[in-house]
Parts: sequence; structure tokens; C-alpha cells
Amino acid sequence: MERKLAWEKYSNEELNKVFDFANEYKKFVTECKTERECAKYAVELAKANGFVDINELIANKTQLKPNDKVYVMNMDKTVAFYVIGTEAIENGLNIIGAHIDSPRLDLKQNPLYEDSDLALLETHYYGGVKKYQWVALPLALHGVVALKDGSVVNVVIGEDASDPVIGVSDLLIHLATEQLEKKGNKVVEGEDLNILVGNMPLSTADKDAKEKVKSNILAILKDKYGIEEEDFLSAELEAVPAGPARDYGIDRSMIMAYGHDDRVCAYPSFKAILSVNNPKKTCVCILADKEEIGSVGATGMQSRFFENATAEVMNAANQYSDLALRRALKNSSMLSADVSSAYDPNYPSVSEKKNAAYLGRGIVFLKYTGSRGKSGSNDANAEFVAKLRKMCDDNNVSFQTAELGKVDLGGGGTIAYMLANYGMNVIDCGVAVQNMHAPWEVISKVDLYEALNCYSTFFKED
Ligand code: MN
Ligand code: MN
Repeated sequence: MERKLAWEKYSNEELNKVFDFANEYKKFVTECKTERECAKYAVELAKANGFVDINELIANKTQLKPNDKVYVMNMDKTVAFYVIGTEAIENGLNIIGAHIDSPRLDLKQNPLYEDSDLALLETHYYGGVKKYQWVALPLALHGVVALKDGSVVNVVIGEDASDPVIGVSDLLIHLATEQLEKKGNKVVEGEDLNILVGNMPLSTADKDAKEKVKSNILAILKDKYGIEEEDFLSAELEAVPAGPARDYGIDRSMIMAYGHDDRVCAYPSFKAILSVNNPKKTCVCILADKEEIGSVGATGMQSRFFENATAEVMNAANQYSDLALRRALKNSSMLSADVSSAYDPNYPSVSEKKNAAYLGRGIVFLKYTGSRGKSGSNDANAEFVAKLRKMCDDNNVSFQTAELGKVDLGGGGTIAYMLANYGMNVIDCGVAVQNMHAPWEVISKVDLYEALNCYSTFFKED
């Protein structure tokens, strides 16, 4: 069955809303290129919209009432925003979970070295990347350096128009005969993703001093950020594509940006929770870290963070018991808000056209992801899918359904199956992305808007 372009249902006046929301999102995705930057941005905006830190409530022994808004932050990288419903929380929550980490090049702990009068930074890539895509393009450095005195220095180099950018070199075509015969995954190897950051010696160095170019970089870092070479040991510095999100297409219908996966779902999820008012069910928006490397660690969705956060919220609402918490999680419904791959006419062979997602046809539901016989997937319940179909149809939300490519060609996973472990209904539901995980990804503005509509509507479900 054919699904129509979501664009077609909007009047010119309504289209302004689509474009206005796209502009808002572009600002977010331009400014927030790390999980910490996203979490911080979201918390600041949430506070301005009446959300309170759970720790304040605990300290003041304030009891949560219906329509109260509260957030739980975890290590500045994962955060959950709750709006308390009128109904008992043990009846279940309406949850939308997205992730705010994206593929990139992380600096190693001992990154800086000098070779042939060039200063370079060693990296270890994060997430699934085609390494050959990360060379010969401008990169920026974002992140934090934690110092021994307990303070944390924020670093952003390469985003301001007056900033320098950095990058990884590629081999010139003239000498690439051997390189071009290699397999794609060997054309550029992980250990060769070294970032060039300098070529000028320290002016005050002794004539015979060694590594004067590296010393100059250290002097600049010391001057600008007050950090020493040893401080790289306790840093989280991420090299990401430099520059802003841009309108894409002569008709400006799309956006090209770094990190659409998964900020293009995180942003509308978060905006949807901000506008929740007096819900029946308690509503939650989770912005999670570490999805791109398997949701591991204390800030990934495999941790107990969300369960513990919900326990705290129930306790603050005077509704906590172990059983009530288990019931709350079991009775919940969740949209795992993550991107899916958009059908690409340049690569038709990887998709089965009747079950592919298309740019511009609205939010995408993936009943299952996984690979090789649905392995590793959360296969959503048919009854739950029916409920969501009705929700979309009743509220004029354009949606499509899809799989991630042809059977047995590859596959992928999301956070869906982890939450499903509690026995709740979960489905993947997000925006289609072209060239996912490339430094610059592409989405359709109308799909972003349908995501906002879908997520806002979901929070109103009984
Ligand atoms: Mn994702
Ligand atoms: Mn991804």
C-alpha cells in the first residue's frame, strides 16, 4: 500500500510551521554536537519551562503532585524529564526515549604527538563509521577536560566562523593506486585517523629543543583553557564535523546536519514533553547516551538509570513500593524514538521498496529491527501497533512503516529491546535519514514535523 507525501496535507500557512520548527531544530543540532551539550541544552530549556531537579525535591522533601514537572540527570550525559499524571503511576507511563550520542572520533587518552614537524591527535572512533568518510573535511573539537582540582573545562574549537578547524588528511589521488585497490573498510584504517592540529614551532623554545610544534600547541591550550598535557588523561574530547546545519535541496525541503541520528528524534521528543499539560498518564522523555556503542555503561540504557529515576519520582509522589514500580514499568507504553534509513534511489538494491521508509512520508514505525531473521529485535505487539495506527489516523499524523533494508543485508538495533525487558509495549518510531552515520546526514523537514506531532499526540494517550 502506498503512503502519500506528508507535505501534501498542509496549506501554505501550515507549511510555515513546518519550516519554523525546522529552523528551531537546526539551531539545536548546530549548537549541540555531544551528549553533554544536548543534555545541558535540554535541562536549561526545561528549567525555564517549570521542570525541577529531582535532587531539589528530595532535599526539600517536596511531594510531587499531578502536573508537576521534574527531571533526573545522570552524569551530565543522560537525562529523563517527567510530567506527573493524574492517574496512579503504577498504571503505567507514556515514555519516549531517544539518544543524544552520535558517531564521531574520540581523542585517545594520550593523544598529542609530533611527527615530521606536524602536531597530531590520536583518535579512537566511536560508533559505526565508514572511516574513509571522515578524512579531508573540516572537524571541530567539542568536550570536557576534568582537572585534578575537581573543576571541568569546556572545550569547543572550530564552530565560530573565526575559529580554526582541524581534520584528518587523505592520500592524494596521484599516489593512491594501491590504496584504491583496497576494500572499503581498509581504504582508511582506524589507527590512521590522526587529526592534524599544528605546524608552527613555539617561538620562545630553545633552538635545540625537540618537538617545538607540539610544545606550541600545548602553550596555546594552556593559554586558552589552562590545561596541561597530562590533563588529556581525564578528558572527553570528541572530533565532529565543523559547521552549522544547513537547508538542503534547492527547495529547502531537507536539512543536512551532523548528528541527525538521533537528535532529529531527541529534539521533537523533548519539545513534546515541554508542552505536556495535565496528562492522565505520567509522561517521560528520556535522552540517553551510549546507544551508538550498544547502550552500555552507567549512562547507557542498559544501566538501571531509568528504573532508579522512576523509583525516585514515584517516591517523591508518595506512590513508591517495589511492586508499584514493577507495575508502573510493566504497564508502560514506549516509543523508542530512533531514526531509520531512508530509501535512496542511488542504492536501490539494499531496500525492498514496499517495506522501506521514504523521505517526506512522515514518521516511520519499525515493528522490528534486528538482523538475520529478526535476531536481536524487539518485535512490537500487533495490538500495540494497531493502537498507534489509530492514534496517528485520528490525529492526522502522517506515518509509514518500514524495515531496515532487505532481509539478510545487514541490520541494526536501538534501545527498544532493553525497555521491553520490563514487559512494556515498545516500538521504534522515528525520522528517516539519508546517509545515516556519515559526517553529514540528511532528513526531510516534514518528517521532523510529523515526529513532533506524533510524539505530542502519544503523550496524550490514555
Ligand atoms: Mn540511532
Ligand atoms: Mn546510529
